[in-house]
Amino acid sequence: MASGNNSGGEHPGGNGDLLYRLGVTPLIAAGGPNTMHSGTRPRPEVLEAMVKMTEQFVRLDEFIIAAGQEIADMIGVPAATITSGASGGLVLQAAAAIAKDDPKAIAQLPNTDGLANELIIQRGHRFGYDQLYLVAGSKFVEVGTPESCTREEIIEAIGPNTAGIIHLESADREEGFVLLEDTIEIAHSHDLPLLLDAASSLPPRENLTKFVNMGVDLVSFSGGKAVRSIQSTGMLLGKPKWVEYARLNNAPNSTVARAQKVSKEEIAGLLTAIKSFLAVDEEEEMANYRRDMQVIVDQVAEVPGVTASVQHEPGAFYRLPHAVIEFGESWKGPDSTFMGHAFLAGNPRIYLRFGHSFLNGIAIDPLNIQPGELEIVAETVRATLVRASSGDQLAN
Ligand SMILES: *Cc1c(COP(=O)(O)O)cnc(C)c1O
Repeated sequence: MASGNNSGGEHPGGNGDLLYRLGVTPLIAAGGPNTMHSGTRPRPEVLEAMVKMTEQFVRLDEFIIAAGQEIADMIGVPAATITSGASGGLVLQAAAAIAKDDPKAIAQLPNTDGLANELIIQRGHRFGYDQLYLVAGSKFVEVGTPESCTREEIIEAIGPNTAGIIHLESADREEGFVLLEDTIEIAHSHDLPLLLDAASSLPPRENLTKFVNMGVDLVSFSGGKAVRSIQSTGMLLGKPKWVEYARLNNAPNSTVARAQKVSKEEIAGLLTAIKSFLAVDEEEEMANYRRDMQVIVDQVAEVPGVTASVQHEPGAFYRLPHAVIEFGESWKGPDSTFMGHAFLAGNPRIYLRFGHSFLNGIAIDPLNIQPGELEIVAETVRATLVRASSGDQLAN
């Protein structure tokens, strides 16, 4: 939203700043790597690698194959290839399952006439991005209820038109559902690929190998979240055969995924990001984030009606330590959603996590907080909550 409020103070570049010229107010990204709020914070060395790559030209297919091999070697999985975000990976998972390496089928998608095009998905695993699977021409066969599913329901749904089975990596969709190890077993005993969306399941870094080692054929990860590559990148990891099928269905070939092209510069950036991501000591990284989030928790400790704590649930929602501020019984201010929008409309404008069913409050994700912004976030959150708790209007 352009505010038209070019007060200048929010634009480090002053009158010469691009955002100033456009009338777009920048924000402090304290809500995690959400695409609408500009995704991730690319590592500086990623941008350096991209600039360097502008000076060299390659055969893109050779470059993609070699880069995929380097990713696989760095991570320690059999095969990998590059995608346009984890979303692009989902399109390719479907295309690979339907067209495999058949040139005629690859050229024909999204028309699936004569091809097995059904992807089985547990009803409770439907999620916000799953329409990407339909781009390649596939159809969902939904099994179970929104709350539950059994092995038998998946097995009964398998037929001559089944192309694969989808699984969403999500800690809160395990109880009552068929678990990943079981969907893998069912898929493989029917000679089908198991396609996993684990886009945001990093850290922990061990997930980079965990799912592939369990037997998943293709797992999609985002480069534009904790890996801190350029926002438009992602990767598919998995079995060499399925990774090759995905690559054949991907740009730069003339395929259903042609529009998902990833440039040579972005590929160079992703390789650098993965290398840096893997080189970080995860325990130390988490300790640093915990210390940063504690600064915010300490600032708001005295605000009437709130309880603040650093929360970290590896494998679940708080993948990185967050500053979680909960509104208690005695909180006199507005609800989570109202407060979230108030921060987005504030000065400075702050994007943080709000409006989640499990959190009556707000939370701060450290990933995209830039050097120098932590204190601004802490002080703005404290001052805004103090005003809100006293029932004052949240005027800017
Ligand atoms: C973020 C996310 C995506 C999309 O990833 P991009 O890299 O932004 O394309 C897909 N699925 C899930 C579960 C996600 O969390």
